[in-house]
Parts: sequence; structure tokens; C-alpha cells
Amino acid sequence: MHRPIYLDCHSTTPLDPAVLEAMLPFFTESFGNPASNSHSYGWEAEAAVKLAREQLAAAINARPEEIVFTSGATEANNLAIKGAAEANLAKGRHMISVVTEHNAVLDPLRYLKTLGFEITLLPVEADGLLDLGKLKAAFRDDTVLVSVMAANNEIGVLQPLAEIGAICREHQVLFHTDAAQAIAKIPLDVQTMNISLMSLTAHKVYGPKGIGALYVRRKAPRVQLAPQLHGGGHERGLRSGTLYTPQIVGFAKAVSLGMEQMAVEAERLRGLRDRLYNALLTLEGIQLNGHSSQRLSGNLNLSFEDVDGQALLLALQPVVAVSLGSACTSAKIEPSHVLTALGRDDALAYASIRFGLGRFTTEAEIDQVAEHVKASVAALRAS
Ligand SMILES: *Cc1c(COP(=O)(O)O)cnc(C)c1O
Repeated sequence: MHRPIYLDCHSTTPLDPAVLEAMLPFFTESFGNPASNSHSYGWEAEAAVKLAREQLAAAINARPEEIVFTSGATEANNLAIKGAAEANLAKGRHMISVVTEHNAVLDPLRYLKTLGFEITLLPVEADGLLDLGKLKAAFRDDTVLVSVMAANNEIGVLQPLAEIGAICREHQVLFHTDAAQAIAKIPLDVQTMNISLMSLTAHKVYGPKGIGALYVRRKAPRVQLAPQLHGGGHERGLRSGTLYTPQIVGFAKAVSLGMEQMAVEAERLRGLRDRLYNALLTLEGIQLNGHSSQRLSGNLNLSFEDVDGQALLLALQPVVAVSLGSACTSAKIEPSHVLTALGRDDALAYASIRFGLGRFTTEAEIDQVAEHVKASVAALRAS
């Protein structure tokens, strides 16, 4: 029995064996609490966390003291958005974001709305990119934060962070970016991109689940945040809770490995992705979702005309693990909010497949998937 080929790397990725190896000693011998400063158990753990913080900061051109560890990107987004809202009440209650954001950004914004905040959600163009003119027009005197993701988790589209950062700086408004899909996949620089807050996670980049970070700018200008978890005052008071040393070590190892291989791996994935796309193009009636080049190199999102999405997923399941262009919310299947934002109708949004290629994807796997998808779509259309 072969397990299906894994092409769902935007959902999560397997742990790189080198990451696991780096983590293991911190479960057993080096189990100390990094906050214990009276003995060597604590010092060892503290040294490991310090090194990890330096490695992660270096990956985004930040300073180590600007990294706040969290349980992942969901928590980092919540801390950034709700924390900035609470700490900047004197300035205003207006925030700007985009319809194609992850729910971990949209839901905190919806929550703030119930508290009386006003949220402007900008549309995207047909290719998934933000129109910067529309962004500029959305600013108000009481705008406190702009949140735009770096790389989209469904269609892989890369928003122009440096341009957005420059616009935010001009308006003296905080710029938050959810970079869960982008870290160690594309170059990120909090200085040149004028980023105030950046959410990160380990498990999309071959690191462990349950660990992430929020970059919080401390200079030029210093970002004010209200903590969302109160307790022992860890992480400069911004996020209390004993640091999870093995996960932190694994996170930094995963990001460091990703940074070392970034350019070469992006090229390899682009080659495999284009190989898959070109093979599937021999089928008629396929639409690419998202900009053709401004996207993650491992992402391919396609809509299949004249095919029932659920039937297609069933046909693909034994051979390839992918995601459909829809999400189950409370037992009800809804078309993806990202695909409908691109102007896809519901039927086409349902009949969309997200292929997420990754570090362990091979050419042989891509060829096998291409053959199976072609045969499945042809069979469904003929039936
Ligand atoms: C996966 C993902 C998240 C959630 O990250 P967790 O670490 O699982 O909480 C948030 N935003 C984007 C864009 C993602 O892809």
C-alpha cells in the first residue's frame, strides 16, 4: 500500500530530519527552563534560545530582541492586530486589510469590529494582487494599522511588501505582514520593506508545529503593543509562558536550513511546478488562479471547467494529497473566499485544486500526479 504523494505543503510540511536531530537533546538532557538563571540546566536552555533568536532575527534583518516567540502564526497575528488596536486607542480605531487574507488575520479583525473598530477590507485584482492606488485611498486620520500578507496560502501570490511598507511609512501607520508562507521561501527584510510587525511560523518550512514568532519593531519607530497573554512577563512582557526550547531550536534550525537553500530550492520548485502545469495544460478548460510569476515557486492553483470539485477530489485522493478550493466551516462546504475574490464563480471555485510542492517533492512524483490528474479529469468529463 503506497501512501498518496504529498502535495499539500501550504497546509503543513514534514519535519526535516536535521531539524528533528537539532531538537532532540532539548527534550531530554537539556530540559531546563530558559528563565531559570541559578543553574546550568537553565543556562543551557537559555543559550539555545538566545542562539535561535539571533538566527531568526538574521533571517529577516531584525534584531534578536525584536523576536517574540508565540505558538504559531495564528497567535502572532492575534497579538499583532489586537495588541496594536489596544495600545493605540488614542490614535484611532480604523484598520486596513485585504479580502484574501488568512482567517487568522480576518477573524481578529472581525472580532475588533464587534468592539467598535472600523475595518476596510480592500479587494484584489483578478491576478490576486493588491491595487496600491486603492490602498492609498483607504487611509484615514484614525488609521492605526495596515495588514497585508506576504504570500497567499491558497494561490501563492506575493504582495509588493516594499511598496506597501513605503506607503505606510509615509502615512505613519503600522504595517503588519503575515509571512507564514513566505519565511525562508522569499527574501524578507524588515528594514528595506518598512515592516513594523511580522508573523512567522515553523511548520510551513519543515519545522515543528506549535511554534512561531512575532517580529515587533523596537526602533524608528518603536511599536506599542498590548500583551494578549498575561503571566510571568516573558518575552519583554509581550507574551508570558515558559519558552518551549525544543520547538524554538527546531524553528531556528528550519529557518536557517531554508535560508541556505532558498535560491536554489526556489529554482528547483519552479521547474517542477512548471512541469506539472505544462503537463496539465494539455487538458482543455484549465484556469490558473493567481498571478503567473508573482507567486511562490512551489504553488500551483488551478480551476478545472466542467468538472465537479468533490468528484475530482475523490478521484485524486488515492494518488495525491492536495487541497480543494473550498473549506469546511461548521460542516458546511463553502467556496474559498480567496478564489471568489478573484472573480471565480462558486462552481469553478469548488473545482479548484491547490498543488503545494515542497523540499521532498521529486520529478517522478510530479509526472505520476500529472498523469493521474489528466486521466481523472478526462474520465469525469466523459461520464
Ligand atoms: C498556516 C498559516 C497561518 C496559521 O499558522 P499557524 O502557525 O498554524 O497558527 C496563518 N497565516 C497563513 C498565511 C498561513 O499559511
